[in-house]
Amino acid sequence: MRIGVPKEIKNHEYRVGLTPAGVKELHGHGHEVLVQANAGTAIGFSDQQYIAAGARIVPDAAAVFGEADMIIKVKEPQPVECAMLRPGQILFTYLHLAPDPEQCRGLVDSGAIAIAYETVTDARGGLPLLAPMSEVAGRMAIQAAARALEKSQGGSGVLLGGVPGVAPGHVTVIGGGVVGINAARMAAGLGADVTLLDRSLPRLKEIDNDFGGRIKTLYSTQDAIENELREADAVIGAVLIPGAAAPKLVTRAMLALMKQGSVLVDVAIDQGGCFETSRATTHQDPTYVVDGITHYCVANMPGGVARTSTMALTNATLPFAVALANKGWRQALRDDIHLRNGLNVCEGKVTYAAVAQDLGYVY
Ligand code: NAD
Repeated sequence: MRIGVPKEIKNHEYRVGLTPAGVKELHGHGHEVLVQANAGTAIGFSDQQYIAAGARIVPDAAAVFGEADMIIKVKEPQPVECAMLRPGQILFTYLHLAPDPEQCRGLVDSGAIAIAYETVTDARGGLPLLAPMSEVAGRMAIQAAARALEKSQGGSGVLLGGVPGVAPGHVTVIGGGVVGINAARMAAGLGADVTLLDRSLPRLKEIDNDFGGRIKTLYSTQDAIENELREADAVIGAVLIPGAAAPKLVTRAMLALMKQGSVLVDVAIDQGGCFETSRATTHQDPTYVVDGITHYCVANMPGGVARTSTMALTNATLPFAVALANKGWRQALRDDIHLRNGLNVCEGKVTYAAVAQDLGYVY
């Protein structure tokens, strides 16, 4: 199969659909890979590295879309990209179609086979192509909090790890899923005093076992959250209720319980945020202050560490890309129900129930 990797065109998006290592793998399976010139240059993947991995460099997106049987990307296709898709062509990328009728219409009209990373499932009921980005965001949340606590950034001047003779900072993580556990791991690694709250007792048991007592777990109630706010130097919002907006677990009035210069990092901002005072920010201007509390609410955190994110994403997508390329989409989807769950639009029809329902298509 001929596989195409275009350069991403969304503002400040530096990730790329395949690393040179991913290209080498597909090339090794006998496939031809076309990579748009400079697709990965901004994150240290040069055209030379792609060529060494077996890719052919093509000058522009028109060549990638024109020649490839399967397009592998990161972000949802922009209108100009949708217009270049053709019937029978496979598109494998993040789509997030439900809130995006214009993109959905573009994909339906294209006649292409659009498989969304975010709805591919695994045997444990997880979302294996979303998890790497949650891992990145969870770990990054602690870096963001540590920086925001510095005096020059308007923070309280607390070093999360403390030093011998001085107590470490206190980090509260609300939500013990992929983001939360990665945040807790980073905070514990820095030497911070960490408490993690979740609503799932099985989850709390698992985390307690995994961390061997290194972090404290608490059942998530309003009372527990209020008590934590009094202690915390940094609070990480990492909750998710699938398919719903994030619950507002910290109200504006509750900020008064916190120490001045403390930090809220709302990773759940892409689902509306779990703090009442959260509003989405960007990597260019990531923080703002409400009632003396710094808020960090970047909606696309993994984009800030695009090189690591690209490698993590390719690790997760590659086995599926290889299956699609080796077997063709029909057989690959027949063989793997989890990959089939990724199919959102197919040859002019919306094939994912929730998207069809939200956007008024016949399913
Ligand atoms: P997940 O499903 O793995 O974990 C969510 C956890 O929240 C679950 O363990 C659940 O039991 C818990 N939870 C639900 N309600 C709770 C409550 N009231 N109190 C405490 N815990 C509660 O989800 P995840 O992959 O960890 O993602 C978390 C959030 O981070 C999602 O909204 C996701 O979209 C977002 N995210 C944001 C970025 C970003 O760049 N900002 C990147 C990746 C993920």
